[in-house]
Amino acid sequence: MTEFTLIPACGAAIPTDPFIGQHLIDGAWVGSADGAVFERHSPAHGDLVSRSARGGGDDIARAIAAARHAFDAGDWAASPGAARARILLKTADLIDENRERIAVLETLESGKPITQARAEIEGAADLWRYAAALARTLHGDSHNSLGPDMLGMVLKEPVGVVSLITPWNFPFLIISQKLPFALAAGCTAVVKPSEMTPSTTVILGQLLQRAGLPDGVVNIVLGYGDPVGALMTGDDRVDMVSFTGSTAVGKQIVRTATGTLKKVSLELGGKNPQVIFPDADLEAAADAIVFGVYFNAGECCNSGSRIIVHEDVAGTLTEMIVDASRKVPFGDPLDPRTKVGAIISPDHQAKIAAYVRDAETAGAQVALGGKALSIDGLAGQFHAPTIVTGVTPDMAIATEEVFGPVLSVLTFRTMDQAILLANSASYGLSAGVWSRDVHTCLEFSRRVRAGTVWTNTWMDGFAEMPFGGVKQSGQGRELGRYGIEEFLEVKSVQMRIGDTRPRWVA
Ligand code: NAD
Repeated sequence: MTEFTLIPACGAAIPTDPFIGQHLIDGAWVGSADGAVFERHSPAHGDLVSRSARGGGDDIARAIAAARHAFDAGDWAASPGAARARILLKTADLIDENRERIAVLETLESGKPITQARAEIEGAADLWRYAAALARTLHGDSHNSLGPDMLGMVLKEPVGVVSLITPWNFPFLIISQKLPFALAAGCTAVVKPSEMTPSTTVILGQLLQRAGLPDGVVNIVLGYGDPVGALMTGDDRVDMVSFTGSTAVGKQIVRTATGTLKKVSLELGGKNPQVIFPDADLEAAADAIVFGVYFNAGECCNSGSRIIVHEDVAGTLTEMIVDASRKVPFGDPLDPRTKVGAIISPDHQAKIAAYVRDAETAGAQVALGGKALSIDGLAGQFHAPTIVTGVTPDMAIATEEVFGPVLSVLTFRTMDQAILLANSASYGLSAGVWSRDVHTCLEFSRRVRAGTVWTNTWMDGFAEMPFGGVKQSGQGRELGRYGIEEFLEVKSVQMRIGDTRPRWVA
C-alpha cells in the first residue's frame, strides 16, 4: 500500500494577472493614501494571486469616519427591516451568481480544496438569507403589567459602528457569519480581512454595492493587524469589535478595546476533544475523526485535533484511523478530487513540524506522517496526515492549537477521567462524544466545558444554531438568533399613561 494518497498538479489555469484589491471607503474604491501595496502568492502553487492596497492610519481613519457618519445620519439604522432584508437577499443571490469566481480566488489565496471552497460560498449565501429573515423578525418586548398607568417597552437598537476583523482560514464564510447579522441589526461597519486572504472580501464589497447598499454603510480596509486591526480596535468612534482569530490576538484586542470600553465579541482558538466510548460505532467514529482532523488541513478552529479513546478500543480505533488517513487525497487544491490542500505559509508549516518534534522528544510516538509532503508539480507547502499516539496531558500537543493535519491520541478508563482530560485545555470551543448509549452522550454533553457539543457526529453546522466558545475560546455568540443579538443594544422605555406620577415636591 502507498503511504499516502497524493494528487499532483492538475494543470488548471491560474489567472496570469493578479487580482487587484483596493479599500472601499464611503462608496469609493481607493488605493492607500501612501500608495503601499502587498502581495499574496498561492500557498499551493507559488503563483502571484493578488496585489492589494496596504492600509495605514489615514485609510483606517477615513473608513471609520465614513462608517460613523453613515450610522449617525440614521438612514440605515432607521430603515425598515424589510428594506435591509431586501439588500441582504439580493447580496445572497449575487454570491450564488459569482460562486465560482469567489471559490477559485478563495482556493488560490488560502490553499483550501476547490470543492470545499464552493460549499463554503454556498453556505455563506445561506447565512445572508438567514440574516435577512432576522432583519424582518427583529423585535423587542413590552411590559403591560407594571400597573394601570405604566407601559414598559424594551427596544432593540443597533450597537452602532462595528469593526469586523477576520482570519485567513475561512475568509468568506467568517465575514458572512458577522456582516449580514450586523447589517440586519442596523449597524454600519469597517471590515478588515486577513492579509493572507484579502480578495474575496473585496468581491463581497463589490456585490454589496450592486445589491444597493448605501455608501459608507460597509467600508473595507485591507492590510495587516498592525496598524489597521489595532486602530479599528482602539478608535473611540467605533462602538464594538467583533473578532475571529487567535487567542493571543484576541487578548490584545481586549486590552486595546478597554481604553474606550467598547463591546468586544471574540471567536478564538480551540483544542477540541472527541471522546470515544467502547460501545461506539467505531467505523463511523473513525471516519468522522479523520474528517475532523484533516478538514481544511487542520487549520480550523473546530479541528478535532485530539481524541480521548477508551483503553479497550484504542488499538483498534487507531489502526482504523491510520488506514483511513492513508486514503485521504492530499494535493492540488484546484483538482476536484482533493480533500486536503496546502498549508497557509512556510512559517506555519514549521510551527506544525515543531509541535510533532517536541511531542516525540517528550515520549510520544508518530504512528503516521509527521513530515512535510512533496507533491508533484506544486511549489507550495503541504503537510502529511499525522497521528501521534502515547500523548499525555502534560505535552503541548495535547493542550495547544497545532492548526495542522495532526491528531493526538490520548486514552481513558472512566467517564470522570474522560471529562478531566476533555476539560484540561484552556480552550472550550467544541467537543464530541461517541457512544450508542444516550445516557453516556447526555452526561458528557452536560459535563464538558465547550460552546458546542456533537454526539455521534462532528462539525455539523446550521445557520440556526449559535456558535462560540467558553474559557479562552472566546466570548459572545454568532449565528442563530444570538448572532443578531450580539449587534444590538437594549433600551428600556417606561411610559406613564395620564398625569398619574406622584409629585416629589409637595
Ligand atoms: P490571527 O489572530 O493571527 O489574525 C486574525 C486577524 O486579526 C487578521 O485579520 C489579522 O490581520 C488581525 N490582527 C492581527 N493582529 C492584530 C491586532 N493587534 N489588532 C487587531 N487585529 C489584528 O489569526 P489567524 O492566524 O488569521 O487565524 C487563525 C486563528 O483563528 C486560529 O487560532 C483559529 O482557531 C482562529 N479561528 C477561530 C474561529 C472561531 O470561530 N472560533 C474561526 C476561525 C479561526
